[in-house]
Amino acid sequence: MDKTETGQLSRRRLLLAGGATALATAVPGVAALPRSQVPAWDEQVDVLVAGSGAGGTCAALEARRAGASVLLLESLTMPGGSSALSGGVVYAGGGTALQRALKVTDTPEAMFNFLLRAGSPNQPRDKIQLYCEQSPEHFAWLVAQGVAYTEKLTLAKGLPMGDESLYFSGNEQAWPARDLAQPAPRGHVPGVSGMNGGRALMEVLHRQLGSAGVRPRTGVAVKQLVLESDGRVSGAVVETSAGRQYLGARRGVVLACGGFIHNRRMLAQHAPQLARCAVPWGGAGDQGEGINMGIAAGAASLRMNEGFAVAPVYPPENSIAAILINASGQRFISEDSYHAVIGHAIAYEQQGKAWLITDQGSSYQGVQDNFPLAATSNNIGGLAEHLALPRGALQNTVAYYNRYASKGEDPMFRKSPEYLRPLQGPPYKAWNIAVDKAFFPAHTLGGLATDLDGAVINSFGETIPGLYAVGRTAAGIPSAPYIASGLSLGDATFFGRRAGQAVAGRR
Ligand SMILES: Cc1cc2nc3c(=O)[nH]c(=O)nc-3n(C[C@H](O)[C@H](O)[C@H](O)COP(=O)(O)OP(=O)(O)OC[C@H]3O[C@@H](n4cnc5c(N)ncnc54)[C@H](O)[C@@H]3O)c2cc1C
Repeated sequence: MDKTETGQLSRRRLLLAGGATALATAVPGVAALPRSQVPAWDEQVDVLVAGSGAGGTCAALEARRAGASVLLLESLTMPGGSSALSGGVVYAGGGTALQRALKVTDTPEAMFNFLLRAGSPNQPRDKIQLYCEQSPEHFAWLVAQGVAYTEKLTLAKGLPMGDESLYFSGNEQAWPARDLAQPAPRGHVPGVSGMNGGRALMEVLHRQLGSAGVRPRTGVAVKQLVLESDGRVSGAVVETSAGRQYLGARRGVVLACGGFIHNRRMLAQHAPQLARCAVPWGGAGDQGEGINMGIAAGAASLRMNEGFAVAPVYPPENSIAAILINASGQRFISEDSYHAVIGHAIAYEQQGKAWLITDQGSSYQGVQDNFPLAATSNNIGGLAEHLALPRGALQNTVAYYNRYASKGEDPMFRKSPEYLRPLQGPPYKAWNIAVDKAFFPAHTLGGLATDLDGAVINSFGETIPGLYAVGRTAAGIPSAPYIASGLSLGDATFFGRRAGQAVAGRR
């Protein structure tokens, strides 16, 4: 230890120690590398794609079909990312073939109105408009690849666990959304039972990729972008079990590395509300590497604080007749809202705390142990005391709710009449829905700024030549509150396709 005569660390050593700490906490290997420091390309293709989830796979597929030579690199040993783990729901509408076959009326305008008006004010209007206009065509493309959908519609709330392929996957029927746009079921799920839609979707896309002559190269992590002196991205430094390699990309690099829910440092910096959520909802590759590489190459990032945070209070639908309260003992949202809208309200607006209050009429039993039982009592006052709520608040909330629910009304949040009934009697139970106590999944939505072709944009609003980003590496259509299942995969597949065509020069 380098100490002065007084036993203190010398100023120089202190500074060095500070510097070392800073270096140790920085994400290693993300600074862009000047081309002049590349000894030679180990391999050169037209297009490099980093990440084999839905976004990267669609980009690689379309780039290859446009005639480009393509390398698809995947850091993990298995391809598919979060996309393969997912429910496989794609939010599509405006009159898709499946909607038409099932006699569902929908228009691109209704879909646009829902997404724009019922969502956050920060949304990318141009991306949403294009997505809605081309949604029927995009769905037809998925079908043409071989994704199999059944002509079955379910009106039950929640991801279908049977083989139904169309359902209301979002907040369309809850107030105020239902007054802002004509509701329509737009959650399109591959016709497989259980939570296997994502696997089915990705198997089809990877099969198509193989037929086009591209196989994901697994165990290859893209670590740094290579920059020409004029700012163009011309390749990347990758790490493999055999060591470091320099890969050239004549036309460009597509970053499709997912989000950053597993990078605790980035979460703490950008999205502390998501850091507190109990269940990081994403594949192990969600480390933010794509976003950091883009930023190191000069990219702007957008909406990095935003995320998908979900409180799965249903199924069973029966629990929607219960009430949700905050730490003031008051309702704060309609219980028939899409559960990511509820999750957002808890995580971002209620300091992460909430309880579901059920009564004898509820069959809710903490399905799948989603929520711990916080208190049981024979009267509302006893429940309030257990939860240490402000005196009288919960009693007032329940009395007010019951008074109107008995008439089929909810003046506060306009819960749909089918879910309205007064709380009927003991035992009353409080289920803890705190973000850090309950089964409370979350993933990130913020990412690199991109244009309609996935081209990455810098802080001055200019595109960075040779650099593209898609899926959760980009700030796309999904924003917070996340108002419908399927927006993330819809965005990743649609803008993935566009980026692949653009980088290959077809646009
Ligand atoms: C259980 C679950 C269910 C979900 N259900 C749905 C749903 O039904 N509908 C929906 O829209 N969304 C759903 N989501 C969210 C959705 O799956 C993701 O947001 C979406 O898959 C992101 O796609 P992506 O292509 O951006 O990333 P991913 O599919 O995660 O792919 C990114 C890939 O990049 C790899 N990678 C990371 N860093 C590097 C690197 N440096 N070099 C090379 N490769 C790298 C990763 O390992 C990963 O394979 C769900 C998520 C989960 C976890």
